[in-house]
Amino acid sequence: MKIITSIFDLNKEIKDYKNIGFVPTMGGIHAGHKSLIKASQDKKSKTIVSIFVNPTQFNKKDDYKKYPRNIKRDIAILKQLNVEYLFAPNSRDIYKFKDEKFNLKKKDKILCAKFRSGHFEGVLNVMNTLMAIIKSKDLYMGEKDFQQLYLIKKYLSKKFKVRVNSCPTIRLKRNLALSTRNKLLKANSLKKASEIASFLKKIKNKSKLQDSRLAFNLPVYKKKLEKKYNIKIDYLEFRDEKSLKLSNFKNKYRLFVAYAIDNVRLIDNY
Ligand code: AMP
Repeated sequence: MKIITSIFDLNKEIKDYKNIGFVPTMGGIHAGHKSLIKASQDKKSKTIVSIFVNPTQFNKKDDYKKYPRNIKRDIAILKQLNVEYLFAPNSRDIYKFKDEKFNLKKKDKILCAKFRSGHFEGVLNVMNTLMAIIKSKDLYMGEKDFQQLYLIKKYLSKKFKVRVNSCPTIRLKRNLALSTRNKLLKANSLKKASEIASFLKKIKNKSKLQDSRLAFNLPVYKKKLEKKYNIKIDYLEFRDEKSLKLSNFKNKYRLFVAYAIDNVRLIDNY
């Protein structure tokens, strides 16, 4: 695996490749990331994984500081997976480009966009820069971050003529979605988060039978969960998969949740 840190070197290295599969990450490589890499490799693409903990998408300094980083371990895993390129730029290099400022449309200021002001603008800006550098044919992203996937498709896929491949969420046995942030949780909170995931999965399955009546009950579930697990839930909503509008249960929909436990913010959808 070639490890490249400068944009100049990366450009030189990949300029002749036509079939690049790009897997952007913030590191802390886990089985969720691995599934994206595998999807790219299955298409016989030259796979570039990026690791960049993007400061501008953190709306809290402390969250940025404590975000788990372990580049040595990540490199060892990526080598084992036979990834061709790791791109690990530094902030100075990435932000020497003039930022194209993305502003979310009003109707997109829902879910995490409502609760993490500036987060997705930061994501879109850095993805705009990374995609301009890498010019991949395919991009691989996880449904775990469903709103991110939705916004990248909406704001960037046409501009870069890139195919955005959405990959299913990889979970632990007890339903908790893998996430780099899980490393910040104490054992007790990990257990709670798994219970919450199992409960919400059940609600989603039930909703297929009882549809809108359950949506009506979500505020009750929200309160119950907050009390039982001592968590703060930002949102718990059924939303349409295609439009992210509140679901009317006629089209495919998902149950979206974001909550803080141990001061760690977790998101998921079922
Ligand atoms: P992150 O490093 O958390 O920014 O994630 C990098 C990419 O991996 C994003 O496209 C995520 O949606 C995806 N990802 C993160 N966790 C999972 C998971 N449990 N299953 C599938 N994809 C994931």
